[in-house]
Amino acid sequence: MPSMTDHVVVVGAGYAGAGTVKSFEDEIEDGEAELTWISEHDYHLVLHETHRIIRNPQAESKVAIPVDEIKEPSTNFIRDHVTDIDTDERTLELRDGEAVDYDYLLVGVGSGTAFFGIDGLEEHALTMKSLDDAREIHEAVREAGDNATQNDPAQVLVGGAGLSGIQTAGEIAGYRDDTRTPIDIKLIEGLDEIFPGNDPRVQGALKKRLQDRDVELLTGDFISEVDDEQVYLGEEESMPYDVLIWTGGITGRGEIADTDLEQDDRSHRVFSESNFQTSDDRVFAIGDAALVDQGGDEQAPPTAQAAWQAAEVAGENLARAVRGAPLKSWKHKDKGTVISVGEEAVAHDVMGVPINTFGGLPAKVLKKGIACRWIADVSDVKRALSAWNDM
Ligand SMILES: Cc1cc2nc3c(=O)[nH]c(=O)nc-3n(C[C@H](O)[C@H](O)[C@H](O)COP(=O)(O)OP(=O)(O)OC[C@H]3O[C@@H](n4cnc5c(N)ncnc54)[C@H](O)[C@@H]3O)c2cc1C
Repeated sequence: MPSMTDHVVVVGAGYAGAGTVKSFEDEIEDGEAELTWISEHDYHLVLHETHRIIRNPQAESKVAIPVDEIKEPSTNFIRDHVTDIDTDERTLELRDGEAVDYDYLLVGVGSGTAFFGIDGLEEHALTMKSLDDAREIHEAVREAGDNATQNDPAQVLVGGAGLSGIQTAGEIAGYRDDTRTPIDIKLIEGLDEIFPGNDPRVQGALKKRLQDRDVELLTGDFISEVDDEQVYLGEEESMPYDVLIWTGGITGRGEIADTDLEQDDRSHRVFSESNFQTSDDRVFAIGDAALVDQGGDEQAPPTAQAAWQAAEVAGENLARAVRGAPLKSWKHKDKGTVISVGEEAVAHDVMGVPINTFGGLPAKVLKKGIACRWIADVSDVKRALSAWNDM
């Protein structure tokens, strides 16, 4: 017998998925709808602090939060990989388990790494997108460092100087200094400035801190090719590497490419309205997986901050959809950016703070505060406090 209540399914346990589960649970009354949460791991990963593991593998327990600590007992969790979404049949195909039907679906599968077809890059570079990635970078840097000498330091190259590349380079510098291992670190950015597209003041503040930590900045030339020994920059330059990490771009997930959901042809990120509805009004999408309309040609940025804010409204909108009530529309409010360079941090345009760009202890405390606030929101204060020192 078909169930009388609607079945809502949330896919992904990142900021988008975990946040939506929390807000939907808060919103919905007992018996109004059934909620199933599906993700490939049974933990929520605080991805925007996962670079900490590169320096200190023990930070792992702080950034991976078991889903059981997040969801209500009444929410059904399935640990599996979604391989396809059939919007006509309203079913999800799973890699291991049986297909799951939905009445309303939230897609929060995040993004993958874009390699832009650069010859050899995907084959030779490590990526920084998961717990496994962070562990692997730690191992690779440690091994390269162990085999190096003062006269022949290990060559670690990070490609892409956005949020993840800068913070990754900062942690590698932290590891090098903690262990006094001979490592040369180069951060490569094809555009003319690191942290492209952002305010020159924050670019300058980051540049200074990276250079103070002996991270060499190579800007203005794109990586053109990679082989098993060298990275080629532009037309002429090349440099040897022991470890290459690529953080230069994001792209949607392959699973989405085969669906009927309207999406960007190149990146396969799904178009969604400001109320998060996709081209199929039963399917909602937020976070890195989506291109959420912000009016004009604008789309919400692929940040933890935006995914987290969107999730609060997405949970409410799923509840409204179940009730047949009108949906709310959302606009991202940029509350500022705080970026770590190892132990240090740079804050920029932070809401309520009159100084535009600052570092030092205030920025460092703010960075910790943001991470711990999120951990407290998704799980509890005790877990948040125990994470403080590792953030
Ligand atoms: C090193 C690093 C540093 C960063 N620093 C910052 C920062 O300082 N500030 C900031 O705002 N942003 C930062 N970001 C960006 C931020 O982490 C992302 O924008 C954010 O994680 C997006 O959230 P999401 O929920 O959409 O995706 P994710 O957090 O990636 O979550 C996606 C979820 O979906 C699951 N999943 C994926 N595919 C499937 C599938 N087929 N089936 C089942 N489950 C699936 C994944 O396991 C995961 O649980 C950083 C990112 C990185 C990598």
